[in-house]
Amino acid sequence: MSFAREKVINLRLQKETGNQALSGDIPMVLIYPAHYGVGMASCGFLHLHSRINSLKTYRCERAFWPDYLRKFKFGKNVAFPVRSYESLTPINSFPLVGASLSWEYELAQLLSMLISSGIEPVAAKRDENAPLLIAGGVLSRIAPFSLAPFFDLVFPVDNEDAFIDFLETYPELHGKKEILQWASRRHNDVWAPLLDNKPPPTSFYPRNSPAITAISTPAAQFGKRILVETVKGCSRNCGFCVMSRRATGKKMEAIPAEKIFAALQPLPKAVGLVGPAVSDHPQIKEILRYLTANKVDTSLSSLRADRLDQEFVELLAHSGYKTLTIAADGSSQRIRNLISKGIFAKHLIKATKLAKQFSINRIKLFQMVVLPNETAEDLEELCELGKELSSILPLVMTISPFVPKPATPLENSTFSSKKEIKQKLKYIQKELRGKVEIKPVSWKAAAFEYYLDTTKEKGALLLLQALKENWSFAQLLRMMMNL
Ligand code: SF4
Repeated sequence: MSFAREKVINLRLQKETGNQALSGDIPMVLIYPAHYGVGMASCGFLHLHSRINSLKTYRCERAFWPDYLRKFKFGKNVAFPVRSYESLTPINSFPLVGASLSWEYELAQLLSMLISSGIEPVAAKRDENAPLLIAGGVLSRIAPFSLAPFFDLVFPVDNEDAFIDFLETYPELHGKKEILQWASRRHNDVWAPLLDNKPPPTSFYPRNSPAITAISTPAAQFGKRILVETVKGCSRNCGFCVMSRRATGKKMEAIPAEKIFAALQPLPKAVGLVGPAVSDHPQIKEILRYLTANKVDTSLSSLRADRLDQEFVELLAHSGYKTLTIAADGSSQRIRNLISKGIFAKHLIKATKLAKQFSINRIKLFQMVVLPNETAEDLEELCELGKELSSILPLVMTISPFVPKPATPLENSTFSSKKEIKQKLKYIQKELRGKVEIKPVSWKAAAFEYYLDTTKEKGALLLLQALKENWSFAQLLRMMMNL
C-alpha cells in the first residue's frame, strides 16, 4: 500500500473520536461501500460496528470505498486490494466480510471492491477458504434478489439481533455447510440464498435502547454528530416510498424520548436524529426542546412540511438550522393526491414563511418528475410553486426521475425514457431560470436502480460482468434494458 494512502487513512482515524479498543480474537471487516464521509454518516453501520466489538470476541474493523484514490466509475476498476481502516489489512484476509448496503449503486461499488481485492464475488464459486460474505441494510429489503448471487447470508434490515445471534453461534459452526444449515433453520430471520429461494418477511425488532453511533468525525457527511435512531419505519403511505407502511407492512415505531435522552448521555455538542419520518415522532418537539435547552446543535434526517408549525420551526432555528429541507415529491396537487403524499402547497408555503421568520436562510425542496400520468399542466403548477417559494426565500430544488420501487403501489408503473426526463427538466430549468437553483439527479443513476431492481439476479450478474470487463455505464444500461 502506498505511503500516501496509508497517510490519508491515518489522518482520518486521528480525527475520529469515540473509537473502542479492539480486543477480540475473531477478525471481521464491516464494509460500507461508499465514500468514507457517507459511511461515517450511517447510524446503522456505525452502531453495528460498535455492537459487534462490544461482544469482545470479535475484532471488527471498517472498510469503505477507497475514495482517497478516486470516485467510483464504471469502466475504471481499482487495481489493488482495499484495506481495512483499523489495521490496513486487505479485506480478503478476513474470514467474515459484512456489508451494509443502502441503495443499488453501492452494490456496484462493493462488487468492484471485491474484484479488486481478489474475493470471488459469486457465492456458489467461493470455496471453503474464501471469506463468508454477509449482507444487511435497506437494500436487503428493496432488492434481495439482486444480492442473492453474491452473499452467503442476507440479514433483513433491522434484524440486528439475529445477526448478533449468528456471531455468537459462529465459533461453534464448522465450515460453510453448517453455517448455511444454521441459517436455514432460522429462515424467518436470515436468508441463505444458496439453500433457500425466498427471503424472510420484513420485521422491525424492538430494541431496549435506540441505535446510536459511538464514533464521530468532522469528515462525516453531516459533520461531527452523534446519530441516534429516533423512529423505525413510517406510518404514512406515500405510494412511491420503500419505507411506507404499505411497502413494509409495518407502522412507524417511535423510540420513546426518555430512551433517546438516556442513550445520549453525556450530551454531545451535536446530534442527528435519524429515521424515515423523524418529524412524525409524537414527542419530537419535546426532544427538540430538551436538546436546544441544553445547547445541542441538532439536525433531523427528514422533515414533513405538514408537521412544521411556529414552535417546530423556531426550535429548528435554535437547533442551528440554516437550510430547511422539505419534500413536495409530486409536481402538482393532483399528482400528490394520486401518490397519497398528504402534502399541500399551503404546507410548503407556510413552512417557507416560518423559515424566513426565524432567520433560516434557504429552502431545499425535493421533487420528482415523470410520476405516472404527469402532464404539462402538472409541471406548470410545479414552476408556479417554485416561483412563489423563491419569492420568500432562496430555493434549491433537487429534481429526481421517479423510479418505480419494488413492493410499493407504484411498482408496476413505467420508468420514463431519458428523452422525456430531459424535456421536462429543460422546461423546468427554463421557467425557473434566475429564480430557483435546480439540481437534477442523473437519469442514468435512476435507470440503474430501476433495471437492477427489476432484472434481479440476471441484472446483478450482468453488473458483475460489466465490472469485470470494464464496460462503460451506458453500455451496462443498454444491456440491462435488453434483459
Ligand atoms: S416519503 Fe416520508 S412520509 Fe412518505 S412514506 Fe416515505 S418516509 Fe413516510
